[in-house]
Amino acid sequence: MNEMNNFGDTPEARDIAHHFHGYTNARRHQEIGPMIIERGEGIHVFDNAGKRYIEGMSGLWSVGVGFNEPRLLKALSDQAAKLPYYHNFGHKSHGPAIDLADQLVEIAPVPMSKVFFTNSGSEANDTVLKMVWYRANALGKPGKRKVISRHRGYHGVTIAAASLTGLPYNHRSFDLPLPGIFHTMAPHYWKDGRDGESEEQFATRCAEELEALIQREGADTIAAFWAEPVMGAGGVVVPPKTYFEKIQAVLAKHDILFVADEVICGFGRTGEMFGSTTYDIRPDVMVLSKQITSSYVPFSAIVMNDRFFDPIADESNSIGTFGHGYTGGGHPLGAAVALENLAVIRERGLVENAREVGAHLRARLATLADSPLVGEVRGVGLIAAMELVNDKATKSVTTVSQLGGMMNVAMQRNGLISRNMGDTVAFCPPLILTKAQADEIFEITAKSLREVE
Ligand code: PLP
Repeated sequence: MNEMNNFGDTPEARDIAHHFHGYTNARRHQEIGPMIIERGEGIHVFDNAGKRYIEGMSGLWSVGVGFNEPRLLKALSDQAAKLPYYHNFGHKSHGPAIDLADQLVEIAPVPMSKVFFTNSGSEANDTVLKMVWYRANALGKPGKRKVISRHRGYHGVTIAAASLTGLPYNHRSFDLPLPGIFHTMAPHYWKDGRDGESEEQFATRCAEELEALIQREGADTIAAFWAEPVMGAGGVVVPPKTYFEKIQAVLAKHDILFVADEVICGFGRTGEMFGSTTYDIRPDVMVLSKQITSSYVPFSAIVMNDRFFDPIADESNSIGTFGHGYTGGGHPLGAAVALENLAVIRERGLVENAREVGAHLRARLATLADSPLVGEVRGVGLIAAMELVNDKATKSVTTVSQLGGMMNVAMQRNGLISRNMGDTVAFCPPLILTKAQADEIFEITAKSLREVE
């Protein structure tokens, strides 16, 4: 027990004493303590004082069907009673993994053929990079192994995934990124578009910068390009319309694979089943997690086409085994929940709901652009962001990272959990959101903004 804090013998004190939180200032946590969430219901969660919040971020962009969906709980307990664990090493398999692989291939936005199961978004991205390297060796092109992702991109925190991530605090003091992983510019038109530059011209510049990087390193050394259809943790960056078309033309020209990180976008977030559909991306590999199980169980999956899989399969044949896999990969509990989650999304029309209610929420939030503090409101489907600024003309923020933080605190006080990335305030509510609940999110946001102004 930590005797130094002011929380006495409480769960808060014990949290401070023994719980090292991810993505938290570890010293500051000792001063302010945790916010303890006790239970969830629909789009709401309740803290240990009984206060109710709208979970405006679906937890971590992930609880699509809400916080107490009985069908998922039943799928979980039924599977636990039948077979709580099995694996897929050495030709072993089980029903939930077979059925889920089948369904993921079936709903993929482009022809895909195989699914490899992992446990988190980070682990899936690390695994894809290993597969990229393995494949390069299989093809007799060991030099074609470098990869390109984007500044502001988020792909997780394990060593390769954090290297792919293009955010400074994931690299600083961790001695990352790994060599051979490069970052090109983000398609953040509002922030990085030049005076007089159209979105189309900006998209062209993004593609030209990518091509210049490929040429500088040598196209015969670059194996893959990684991108989220919509950047989430990097600030909900929605790409200009022609961006991915131009990027894919460059990749095709240089025989570079496209890895679509659909960890946030997948399963309806953009108003289509996948962000790749929204932006006409034709990936070779898709990384799925979070909403695949509505995060009731940690789970992730890598969906790939034959172009990616075949050389890897041949190499495993010549070596004798594919020397990679996870104890929990394709876990029956996760796979069973994912199957039921998919059924709920389909049967309740949650993709369409995200499209309709998302448009409503974004239209209402857009009215806040009149505020002197709001530089831009953007989004697609049921994901949105509000960019806070002190000076709209220069888009500058004089109190760095404070506006977003202040807004976050005000929203939380008013009963809405949000997430700020610096001065970008994100909205990513559960896919089950109703229009009336979207209105409530808007009202709380507007009230909080007035308090911060
Ligand atoms: N990829 C994307 C696009 C993400 O948003 C995240 C997490 O936010 C990850 C990967 C990493 O997932 P995890 O936290 O499950 O490792």
